[in-house]
Amino acid sequence: MNDEGRPEGPGFATLCIHGKKHLDKHEVGRPIRAVSTPIFQSSTFAFENAEHGAAVFRGEDPSYVYTRLGNPTQTALEVEMAYLEQGEAALALASGMAAATTAVLTCCQAGDHIVAGDTLYGGTHQLFTQTLPRMGITVTEVPAADPDNFARAITRKTKLVYLESPANPTLVLTDIAAVAAIARKRGVPVLVDNTFCTPYLQNPLALGADIVLHSATKYIGGHGDTVAGILVGKADWMMRARMEILRDVGGCISPFNAWLLLRGLKTLPVRMDRHMANAMEVAQFLSFHPKVDQVIFPGLKTHPQYELYRRQQRGPGGMISFLVKGGREAGRVVMDNVKLCTLAVSLGDVDTLIEHPATMTHSTYSEAELLKVGIHPAMVRLSVGLENVEDIIADLRQALALA
Ligand SMILES: *Cc1c(COP(=O)(O)O)cnc(C)c1O
Repeated sequence: MNDEGRPEGPGFATLCIHGKKHLDKHEVGRPIRAVSTPIFQSSTFAFENAEHGAAVFRGEDPSYVYTRLGNPTQTALEVEMAYLEQGEAALALASGMAAATTAVLTCCQAGDHIVAGDTLYGGTHQLFTQTLPRMGITVTEVPAADPDNFARAITRKTKLVYLESPANPTLVLTDIAAVAAIARKRGVPVLVDNTFCTPYLQNPLALGADIVLHSATKYIGGHGDTVAGILVGKADWMMRARMEILRDVGGCISPFNAWLLLRGLKTLPVRMDRHMANAMEVAQFLSFHPKVDQVIFPGLKTHPQYELYRRQQRGPGGMISFLVKGGREAGRVVMDNVKLCTLAVSLGDVDTLIEHPATMTHSTYSEAELLKVGIHPAMVRLSVGLENVEDIIADLRQALALA
């Protein structure tokens, strides 16, 4: 309120808001050439004049309008992800689940049907079995290792085939090319959740899928500090996802989180190489450990789909599931006694994370469903991090000794 003693011109409150215009002209008005993409932490974007604004809203001018619909930092991430996944366009969203709901609502309406693999991220399973049915969208979940199961489940109402490969947490693989060929014949788009592999290890679009989904919270962000999701696919489909669903449902990513993912992407291949090298050694250690009953890791020849893994993926990823002798109680002892590994959900972080799917990430499955889809009640899931592998192994060794 008090502008006394200030120089002539706009008042202090006005300057607080408009002073930057002065700064634009005199300080920022020179070439910037920042090496790191700037964070455009702006909710809205100015129009040149009323006619310009109207042209933007008529879709005749591509200028930015409002960050829910698009933002330059977000665009930089989308262009990069589309390129890495060999797709035409991408859409960055607030979380992996925002990506899942946006994809489903772009493809389906009340009365439609989805065929999905039966082992899914727990949140996706809950969306499919609890939330979508309330909206009149039904889902049939089928064992995902056999492509014929998808063929049998597709009906005239099916508008989407949805799968995870490798699946969380059973690491069951689906032959993406085979399912894509089946679905294409029936005119149904295929979405692949590529969170476990990242575009470094697998490109579902190149195998015939139509849409790729990432929980970018995991390996793409990679540091355990961001929740985000990404869709990649055809440009026209992505425009509908943005202008029909994202616009109305609103699960947009923040410019800062988009920037964190851009930063994560810079080291993705280096991190993945180390995640995989560490995971291979940990998987071997566990396989020979007398207190471990079963180790599930696509990079081991004992994985029932080892041949498909070699054909479909460029590496095994960093996720291991295993069963401790003595069942659920023995697994609990291991999880309660690790010191370096962190007992936490999520995955793909620099830190090694350990968790119990049956009571944590996949507690949305009933006991009967868990058994049916192969999530053993004693299964322990390990996201192998980037620590020195000897230290991870030493930690697991001392915890297993107590089990
Ligand atoms: C974590 C996860 C999701 C959900 O992503 P959020 O970013 O947590 O919303 C979806 N699919 C898979 C395979 C995941 O691991």
